Amino acid sequence: MNKILITGASRGIGAATALLAARHGLTVIVNYHRNQAAADKVVQTIMDSGGKALAVQADVSAEADILRLFEACDRLPGTLSALVNNAGILETQMRLDQMDTARIQRILTANVTGSLLCAREAIKRMSTRYGGEGGAIVNVSSVAARTGAPGEYIDYAASKGAIDAFTIGLSKEVAAEGIRVNGVRPGFIHTDIHADGGEPGRVERLRTSIPMQRGGTAEEIADIIWWLCSAQSTYVTGAIVDAAGGR
Ligand code: NAD
Repeated sequence: MNKILITGASRGIGAATALLAARHGLTVIVNYHRNQAAADKVVQTIMDSGGKALAVQADVSAEADILRLFEACDRLPGTLSALVNNAGILETQMRLDQMDTARIQRILTANVTGSLLCAREAIKRMSTRYGGEGGAIVNVSSVAARTGAPGEYIDYAASKGAIDAFTIGLSKEVAAEGIRVNGVRPGFIHTDIHADGGEPGRVERLRTSIPMQRGGTAEEIADIIWWLCSAQSTYVTGAIVDAAGGR
């Protein structure tokens, strides 16, 4: 049985992707940072439907945690065929000249370094260069990589812009080794990432700025992530799919 490792999968887009991948028969490694109860609930839901899953705590900002996460994955039967770099953080809205260095480093380390290191570990397991069977890596970016999020989250936008460059570069680096690397750029999606830090009325303001006049759901993004992981997209690599309701 093939395995899929999804970072930040205890809730939101990661959890929706975990449930979908399990329905397609993959063993799911549900990485979580702090909320073990939520991760256990995702695992239980999968197991109740006859699927296989394991919750593994790891902070993607810490290399030692990432190595431990992949070792836990190695101990499960099956072949790692997909990695979803989904974990990400967004902090309170502010201008760049109000941000302290620690915040900028936190965002870049979690969103960028964490994704690069997870991809590195996945490649060592998937690449035909290392005797692997190939696989798929999906990086979760953001519409902020295109808009730049001025006055709100320039640090976050910069991290997602870096993710897009990484998706394009890595897709070419490992294309001949059986690994596809793609990205998804969600727009405004109704998840708990927006629970902190937004100004009053922000959600309504964002909604009206979207041509489709609504936010997306975690499940709508999970569908794209899964498609990019699946055998339905075997000739797609280096693509970054905009899923932002036309924004
Ligand atoms: P979310 O906050 O529910 O999910 C993010 C997950 O990442 C959480 O489970 C969180 O615990 C985990 N995480 C954060 N830091 C971590 C760390 N250091 N180590 C391990 N896990 C960590 O929000 P979401 O909307 O589901 O976000 C998923 C991804 O989608 C993120 O990369 C986010 O930037 C991206 N995204 C979301 C939106 C949106 O509007 N919701 C839009 C564009 C992009």
